[in-house]
Amino acid sequence: MSLNDVIGQDRAVKILSSMIKREKIAASFLFSGISGIGKRLTALEFAKAVNCKTPASVKMGTSCDICSSCRKINSKIHPDIQIVTPDEGIIRIEQIRPINEFLSFTPSEGKKKVVIIDEADKMNPQASNAALKTLEEPPSNSIIILVTSRESNLLDTIVSRCIKLTFVPLPNKAIKSILNKNNQTLNPAQISLCRGSVEGVEGGDKELKRNKGVTSIQDIIKGGGIEKWKEREDMEEWFLTIIPILRDMVISKIKGTDEYLINSDIKDEIKVLTQKTDIGNMVKCFDCVYGVSAKLHLYPNKLVVQNYMNNVIRDMLG
Ligand SMILES: [Zn+2]
Repeated sequence: MSLNDVIGQDRAVKILSSMIKREKIAASFLFSGISGIGKRLTALEFAKAVNCKTPASVKMGTSCDICSSCRKINSKIHPDIQIVTPDEGIIRIEQIRPINEFLSFTPSEGKKKVVIIDEADKMNPQASNAALKTLEEPPSNSIIILVTSRESNLLDTIVSRCIKLTFVPLPNKAIKSILNKNNQTLNPAQISLCRGSVEGVEGGDKELKRNKGVTSIQDIIKGGGIEKWKEREDMEEWFLTIIPILRDMVISKIKGTDEYLINSDIKDEIKVLTQKTDIGNMVKCFDCVYGVSAKLHLYPNKLVVQNYMNNVIRDMLG
């Protein structure tokens, strides 16, 4: 795929594409918006277009996807591209220092060095300050792209140094196209449950998180409880993980098939989770968890939410 194939983010793509066409590319960007809408994907496609070796494609503001540079970026082995991701939920200064050094050298193969800092809001204060230094004096021929779904957790000084592109929640039509591309289909009601986001479009540790979500529901049903949330983000993450599973449980109970499941690869585990309860309670459980997730800002106390969710899931699914 190439930059022009990114679905549902026309404005951001247009801005990036026009920079490539004009050969006037900013040094630092902030890609902001909810998770699962294509920010990291766009950052990678942008890095490809910036370094593409096919002049005709660059003239169109996109990449060819077949030259040696494009293929290396696709295989994540391009020497001029680096992606930083949180390690156990934190980006530390030890991850940012080498980036600053990496950017200070001229590109070895490509036109520009590109660093993508994914979940940039997870940088701790020391890492943030180190990143800020680079943003204040960006080395020539380098691009830094900060990707975040929690912009308010970034230092204002960092945000103000970047060209900010706001990524929008995906319209249902775009979600449908993306799922089709991945050979998945959902009906309109299911698509609307996605709330404008396709978790997994950006890859990452989706599967691991999903499996933790299944374990969490199993634990609660068995009489245990949710693993303690250290940060509010852990709580938000729990809801993002649990909701698609609860949705799948409802679908599995109604349809009796795995045809419409998002998590069809674990259809058996999903089915087991539905065995102790009936459809009415499952829908009630889904509505309740979903309702709380939409109003999390009204719950300042994590423990209250945790106990509430333990009780709801245990009572309705156990
Ligand atoms: Zn290319």
